[in-house]
Amino acid sequence: MNEKILEIENLTVSFDGFRALNNLNFSLNTGELRVIIGPNGAGKTTFLDIITGKTKPTEGTVRFKGKNLRPFSEHQIARMGVGRKFQTPRVYLNLSPRENLELACNRIKNVFSTLFRKTPTAERRTVGGLLETIGLAHKADMRANLLSHGEKQWLEIGMLVAQSPDLLLVDEPVAGLTDEETERTGELLVSLAQSHSIIVIEHDMEFVRQIAQGQVTVLHQGSVLCEGSFDQVQSDPKVIEVYLGQEVDAHTPPADLSSAAVSESIS
Ligand code: ADP
Ligand code: MG
Repeated sequence: MNEKILEIENLTVSFDGFRALNNLNFSLNTGELRVIIGPNGAGKTTFLDIITGKTKPTEGTVRFKGKNLRPFSEHQIARMGVGRKFQTPRVYLNLSPRENLELACNRIKNVFSTLFRKTPTAERRTVGGLLETIGLAHKADMRANLLSHGEKQWLEIGMLVAQSPDLLLVDEPVAGLTDEETERTGELLVSLAQSHSIIVIEHDMEFVRQIAQGQVTVLHQGSVLCEGSFDQVQSDPKVIEVYLGQEVDAHTPPADLSSAAVSESIS
């Protein structure tokens, strides 16, 4: 097995000459949970679009499990084991959590996966097991439209896990959640990190503190500004400058780094 599940070299993405990603280098170890933060416009969403194949690099390479992703379509990349959780939950509201998960599990039972993929542990998960994992066993049979926003997010995470991706990409999972839901989402992601490689993009610094077990990557102007533990990154003068600069320029509070975190780090 490749020790690095994801290796990105000299990645540049230009939109009409504007470099949304600029000579970016990044790698993720198999089994790692990485949090990516960065001010608005840093290139975070474009970064995920590149990994899923939605956008193709202008220059540079993205290797997933050792394979250059350039020739593959979004659909093929998903089948290779990249799963993406979007910010807005995409669950069938008129179905129950159990039915949603059954659909997600059946989606993988096609000829391709039967013939060519080994069955990883996660793939053998039962719907019941998934309901336990996401904490919705007690609401398994009610219509999903009755779930809270947080519960819908967990259900969608469960549907993603049902398809047993090797790499989970999660875009701002706690936007709009209550504090308690935020904490439980963190626990869920940390527990999923035992059996998946995960990239989480997040604005909420309390949440980042909760889930960041290892490295945190800070993106700025399409490149990696710095990487380190949560504490290292939070007290890095470059990071503080980028976030405070945004506050001064925009006359609005920094969207990504909570003001509490900033004042903590400069005090
Ligand atoms: P983030 O998610 O960190 O806020 P994005 O990846 O969405 O940043 O965007 C990075 C930069 O690239 C922004 O300046 C954005 O306006 C620009 N951008 C993103 N997608 C496109 C596109 N399809 N066409 C032109 N510019 C884009
Ligand atoms: Mg974005």
